[in-house]
Amino acid sequence: MTMITNHMPTAELQAIDAAHHMHPFTTNDELAEQGARVITRAKGVFLTDSEGNEILDGMAGLWCVNIGYGRTEMAEVAARQMAELPYYNTFFKTTHVPAIALSQEIARLAPEGMNNVFFAGSGSEANDTNIRMVRTYWAEKGKPSKSHIISRKNAYHGSSMGSGSLGGMDYMHAQGGMPIPGIHHIGQPDWWAEGGDMTPEEFGLARARELEAKIEELGEDNVAAFIAEPVQGAGGVIIPPETYWPEIQRICDKYEILLIADEVICGFGRTGNWFGSQTFGIRPHIMTIAKGLSSGYQPIGGSVVCDEVASVIGATEFNHGYTYSGHPVASAVALKNLQILQDENILDHVRNTAGPAFRAGLEGLADHPLVGGASVIGLMGSLPLTPHKESRAKFAGEAGAIGLMCRERCFANNLVMRHVGDRMVVSPPLVITPDEINIFMDRARKALDETWQKAD
Ligand code: PLP
Repeated sequence: MTMITNHMPTAELQAIDAAHHMHPFTTNDELAEQGARVITRAKGVFLTDSEGNEILDGMAGLWCVNIGYGRTEMAEVAARQMAELPYYNTFFKTTHVPAIALSQEIARLAPEGMNNVFFAGSGSEANDTNIRMVRTYWAEKGKPSKSHIISRKNAYHGSSMGSGSLGGMDYMHAQGGMPIPGIHHIGQPDWWAEGGDMTPEEFGLARARELEAKIEELGEDNVAAFIAEPVQGAGGVIIPPETYWPEIQRICDKYEILLIADEVICGFGRTGNWFGSQTFGIRPHIMTIAKGLSSGYQPIGGSVVCDEVASVIGATEFNHGYTYSGHPVASAVALKNLQILQDENILDHVRNTAGPAFRAGLEGLADHPLVGGASVIGLMGSLPLTPHKESRAKFAGEAGAIGLMCRERCFANNLVMRHVGDRMVVSPPLVITPDEINIFMDRARKALDETWQKAD
C-alpha cells in the first residue's frame, strides 16, 4: 500500500483522486480535468487546503459542523469509546450506554411528547425509516390503506431510493427509477421564485392549501403522512411565509395525517432553537435528525418519534434497522456535541449575537446590483441573484449559470458559499463570531462584484 499524506503535492493527490474516487453529485470526468480542491485540515470556521489557503466555510461542511471544526474533546470521546466498546448493535435485545444516554438526551431536548428515538446512520436512512414507520403505524391501527405520503417539489430528504423519492428534485428523479410508488409532491412555499403577484401571506396560504387539495384527491383514508423541512435547505433556504405552517398544521390535524418535520438541517440550533419545529410552532409526530446531531464529527441520524406513534410501533416487531443504528462511537460523539452546544450557550449565541450580525451582513449585501434581497433565519440564509430586483426576474440563458459563477468567485476568494440555481445559500458553523461574519461579508461582496463584472 502506498502512503497517501497531506504532504504530497496537490497535483499528485488530485490525480489519484480522479483515478479512483467517484464523487457524489458530481460530473466526475469534468472534475478529473479540473482537479478537486484538497482540504487538509480545519479549525473553527476555517478550512485549510493543500496549497495552504485558509477558506472561510460559509456552509459548515454540508450544513452540519454546528460546533465548528477542530474540537479535540470530540476526538478524545471517540478514542475512549473506541477503546472501550467500538461496536455493538442494538438488535436482538441488546443495548449499550452511549445509545441509552443519547436517546435520553435527545428526548429531553425535543418538543414535549417526543420521547423516543430510532437511530440511523444518516438523514437518508432516517427518512427511509420514516416511510416504513408511518405505513406500519397505520397498518397496526387497522388502516393499511393509509400508505401514501405527500411531500413537496424541490424538497430534499436524502439520496437513497426512499428518501430521494420523498425529495422533490426533478434532476434526481430523472435517474434510477425514482420516485417509488405512493409518494406525491405538492408545490413549495417559494414566494421569491413562484409567488407572482400574490403577497407572501396569500402565497403561503395557497401553497399550504395544495396539501388539502392533494389529500382530498387521494382520499384521506389513503394518506399516511406529510413530510417537509421547516425551512427547505438544499432547495435554496426557502423560508416559508408566516401563513404557511399554521395552515399546514390545521390541515394535518383535520385529516389525521402524520406530520414529519425533516429537521436534518434545521435541528440543533440552526434556526436559533433546538428544532425548526419550535421556531415555526409546528407540532410534528416524527422529526428526522442527522447532521448537527453530531456536528458531522460522526455519521449518525435518527427519527424522533412521538409517544402515540412509538406506542403503536412498540406493540409489534418493527422489522427494520441498520447495522449502525445507535453506533456506540457515533452516539458518544453526538452526546458530547449536545453537551458542547449547551455548555457554550451556542443557541443563545445564534439568537443574540451571531444571528443578528449575520442578518445585518446579508441584508447589507442586498444593496448589491446583483442581489434581489436577503432571506435569513438564525444562521441560515440566501441571496437570490437577479438582473432586476423589483420584478424578481430570472437571468436569460442557462438556469444557475450566474449562481455557479458566483460560487466559483467565492471559492477563488477563499469563501465557501453554495448556489442553488441562481440563489446563493449560506449556513456557517453556529460558533462563527461577528468578526468572522465581517470577513465573510467582505469576501462575499468581492465575489459578487467579480460575478457582476463577468456577467455583464
Ligand atoms: N434531509 C434534509 C433536510 C437534508 O438536508 C439532508 C441532507 O442534506 C438529508 C435529509 C439527507 O441526509 P444525509 O445526507 O445524511 O443522508
